[in-house]
Amino acid sequence: MTASRSARERQAAAEAGPLATVKIDLGEQQEFLYKISCTTCVAKGHRKWSAYRPGGDNGFMAAMDRWIFHLSEKHPGTEAPCLAYLPAAQQRLHERREQQ
Ligand SMILES: [Zn+2]
Repeated sequence: MTASRSARERQAAAEAGPLATVKIDLGEQQEFLYKISCTTCVAKGHRKWSAYRPGGDNGFMAAMDRWIFHLSEKHPGTEAPCLAYLPAAQQRLHERREQQ
């Protein structure tokens, strides 16, 4: 469990790019809690930005989607592997809105 958590943390951090700080905590049910924070927004003294989502792969995807949107809106021009998923993230957002 611990090994897979730190492995996931490393992988998520690599995908999220240099501006992100990724932490994965364990919840009460031993579920993963994904937290992605923006180092730039913290450093500039803005309201601290972070995406915090519980759950397995769905939680990870939801947190990463929010991070992708944050990067593309607030830090255009930043290079990060996860930006390759921007179209997919927009598609998921669109589908969620359709369902509501
Ligand atoms: Zn930011």
